[in-house]
Amino acid sequence: MANINENFLKLEESYLFSTIAKKVAEFQKKHPDKKIIKLGIGDVTKPIVPAVIEALHKAVDEIGTIEGFKGYGPEQGYEFLRKAIVENEYKTLGIELDEIFVSDGAKCDCGNIVDIFGNNNKVAITNPVYPVYVDTNIMSGKKENIVYLPVLEKNNFIPELPKERVDIIYLCFPNNPTGMAISKEELKKFVDYAKDNKSIILYDAAYEAFITEGNIAHSIYEIEGARDVAIEFKSYSKTAGFTGLRCGYVVIPKSVKGYSQGGKKFEMNKLWNRRTTTKFNGTAYIIQKAAEAVYSEKGKEQVKANIKDYLENAKIIKDGLEEAGFIVYGGINSPYIWLKAPNNMSSWEFFDELLEKANIVGTPGIGFGSCGEGFLRLTAFGTKENSIEAIKRIKELY
Ligand code: PLP
Repeated sequence: MANINENFLKLEESYLFSTIAKKVAEFQKKHPDKKIIKLGIGDVTKPIVPAVIEALHKAVDEIGTIEGFKGYGPEQGYEFLRKAIVENEYKTLGIELDEIFVSDGAKCDCGNIVDIFGNNNKVAITNPVYPVYVDTNIMSGKKENIVYLPVLEKNNFIPELPKERVDIIYLCFPNNPTGMAISKEELKKFVDYAKDNKSIILYDAAYEAFITEGNIAHSIYEIEGARDVAIEFKSYSKTAGFTGLRCGYVVIPKSVKGYSQGGKKFEMNKLWNRRTTTKFNGTAYIIQKAAEAVYSEKGKEQVKANIKDYLENAKIIKDGLEEAGFIVYGGINSPYIWLKAPNNMSSWEFFDELLEKANIVGTPGIGFGSCGEGFLRLTAFGTKENSIEAIKRIKELY
């Protein structure tokens, strides 16, 4: 008889996106003439930029030749991409090539990182949150050790330092779902906390490319001391539209140390390298070539233009909602807009009202955790036309 991992039984069922899909399908069935605008999804919509497509074509042709064929590549990623990452993202931050591990995206990295941590760690996770951090900790037997850090309107959606001692802290900035960013000073408080408590920060910077304001770190390593206490996750998904191509990377400086039960220090970089070489056979060569092209002159320009368009959508949505009298957060350094439901409505009540009356679909904030109640997440990943039309409908209604 094969036993299951009973930690899976401790997971809460996620009905969020299936419930949204069901409600939308029912509404559309009742009102086939209504054009629904979906501002709920967190996926990009713009096609891959020409510089990346060109690199992909070239790489495909290359592996079709005897000289250019590639079999298994280095598990940690090809040197050409790791070099490009160091050169373009970390040149002044002291991060070295063997501190970068290329992957097939940040979801896997954020999820797999639990492998190199013991089960007795106290783990701080914000509420609301990208659900992967919570569920992967539960799957690996750490449910009882999770401490939630409320992310509240009164604190401008910046978590307070943990009240009790924790060993691991998940942070994501710019944040999904709130769309809010953290100042360097606020982030420094977490770095100092981690140093004082020998904790490690797991920093998800998947939306870094959307930062527009100064005084916000594009990498946690801009904060003094972070190289000793932080692991950083980055992704080409939202930066360069790679949600389907799949490529990201994790940065683990060799100075980040964990401890055995007996108090002996170990490099987390070595543990992750061991895990990677054991469980992963590398990201596809052609995809790494595509990622490298994001750093070409043309690639940079083209990717920037796409992000600018998404941010313009965010501005249209944010400004329009504010003009209509709503309280709105995010949307400045992020493709996400965190909209407060009016008249003390719950997230789902507001979701239903927007669907029924304006035929607009958002994502109920409660789906990201109890502290998301009373909010709705809208995204700027749609088209400009739809963003304008959505705001027009809302203004007519409120
Ligand atoms: N981290 C956050 C906060 C996200 O919102 C997402 C995707 O939505 C990811 C990571 C996953 O990114 P990837 O596509 O690289 O797996």
